[in-house]
Amino acid sequence: MLEDNKSFSEELPPGQLDSIQYEQNPYITVLTCCDSRVRIRAFLADPHPTDNVFVIRNVGNQLAVTSGSVDYGVRHLKTPLLLILGHTRCGAIKAASTDYRKLSLHLVQELNGLHIPVRGMDPGTDDDVQWLQAVERNVHYQMDLAVQRYAPEIAEGTLAVIGCVYDFANLYKKGIGKTVLLNVNGESNSDVFTKSDLMDDLPADLVDSVLPGSPVPQ
Ligand SMILES: [Zn+2]
Repeated sequence: MLEDNKSFSEELPPGQLDSIQYEQNPYITVLTCCDSRVRIRAFLADPHPTDNVFVIRNVGNQLAVTSGSVDYGVRHLKTPLLLILGHTRCGAIKAASTDYRKLSLHLVQELNGLHIPVRGMDPGTDDDVQWLQAVERNVHYQMDLAVQRYAPEIAEGTLAVIGCVYDFANLYKKGIGKTVLLNVNGESNSDVFTKSDLMDDLPADLVDSVLPGSPVPQ
């Protein structure tokens, strides 16, 4: 870790960190799972990211677990975008479908927040369809909570909340490592949200490439 930091700091372009000495100016707040396979770098072309992403991570990308931190990104730093990012084969989702009471108290408390999204899932299943359905339900569930919480900012047009799944297993057949867009400001029907003003500047082929295609049956 120390060697990597030494290399990183020595490879930074001159002056790279000068502008961030006293403040941060991220354009996006990201709430995602702490799973090590979810890489924030998967969304950023900048090889030397400095202060552009405010990241909150917890098991199962849950708003309620760290809502104060999300508030800080949205309401204090005023990022215009909040991304709620689930991912394929999320271990938190699988664990929450099982009898997890023997885990540590605090982990149990965090997994308790996932009991609604995992409802109906076979406990601990490896079935990718069921598992992905629960991952998607969790993204929509967290989106509903966020849209309620940040309703004033969304109504003002100062915040957009989007819900995605990062697919490192290629379960959507879009290509391994792609991100799929499921929800925009609480709207889960892609026929509706693709017509929203928020999507106007995006090339049509890009929009097509990030939609889930044939929806996962819920
Ligand atoms: Zn996860």
